[in-house]
Order: sequence, then C-alpha cells, then structure tokens
Amino acid sequence: MRAGQYVIGIESDGKVKGCPSLPTEPYVGGNVRDQAVREIWETSPEVRFTRDRTTDELWGFCKTCYYAETCMAGCSWTAHCTLGRRGNNPFCYHRAKQLEKQGIRERLQKKEEAPQQPYDFGRYEILEEPLPVATSDAAAATAAPSAENSARPDPLP
Ligand code: SF4
Repeated sequence: MRAGQYVIGIESDGKVKGCPSLPTEPYVGGNVRDQAVREIWETSPEVRFTRDRTTDELWGFCKTCYYAETCMAGCSWTAHCTLGRRGNNPFCYHRAKQLEKQGIRERLQKKEEAPQQPYDFGRYEILEEPLPVATSDAAAATAAPSAENSARPDPLP
C-alpha cells in the first residue's frame, strides 16, 4: 500500500496517519477537523515519513541487508508494533534464510504488554539462537510422510 506515499489513514475522530493500521502515537500528523488533508499530507513529518526517510533510520539486521535501500525494513506497522520502533523487521523470509545459512534463527520474546488502548502495541525483543539441527529432520519428515501415514484414507470426501 505504501503508507504516506499513495494512501493515508483517517481514524474515526479525524486523526490522520500515513496508513490506517499504524499506531496512533507517534504517527498522527494532524486532524481533519483542524487542518486541510492536503496541508497535513504535504507538511506533516508523521505522515510523510516514508517519503523523507533514508537508510539512516534502519537498525539491526535490516541495517546490514543487501536490500535495505529498496525495502527500508518492510512494513513500518509490523516493525513498530513488534519492537517499539520501525526500521528493523524480523518477519522477513530473506532475513530468515540468510540467518539460516549461519545456523541462526531469531525468536521474539515479549517485554511489555500492550496497554489495551485503540491502536496500541506491546513490545518484543529479538533473541538470536542456534538453529536446532532437529528442524531439518522434522522438515524432512513432513515432506516425506511415512508409509503408514500415506496409507491412511483421506478423512475428507
Ligand atoms: S525486511 Fe528483509 S529484505 Fe527488507 S531490509 Fe529487512 S532483512 Fe532486508
């Protein structure tokens, strides 16, 4: 959708954000009850951040990524609502495959509950850990079902 580049989000009370999913804070750039949408779109740093940002705001694995300049850490909502700050996105297939080559995987650990407010978010931290060897064994078992399992009739018509 390209938040703040081709779309905006307006909350039911008139608050304007670059994307409807983004948390209210810190992404509200104005309110349609107080300002024209065009003015908010053109002048608000909170709304136009995807037009102005550079790779300087990236951090963690995304800062080092080959695709950083194009990808800019993917979905800002996903990153911010997971880690409390955009610019580093652990929900990335490329990243998981790159880490897999190093025998590493990432795991998210909850640090803070969401406060139960509209558009709120909790916070997680990324923990790196060795990729268990058993993962590849389990994958192989899933890909190649045993003769006993494959002989079972399909339970669905
Ligand atoms: S989200 Fe994935 S592809 Fe994008 S910068 Fe981060 S690691 Fe690279």
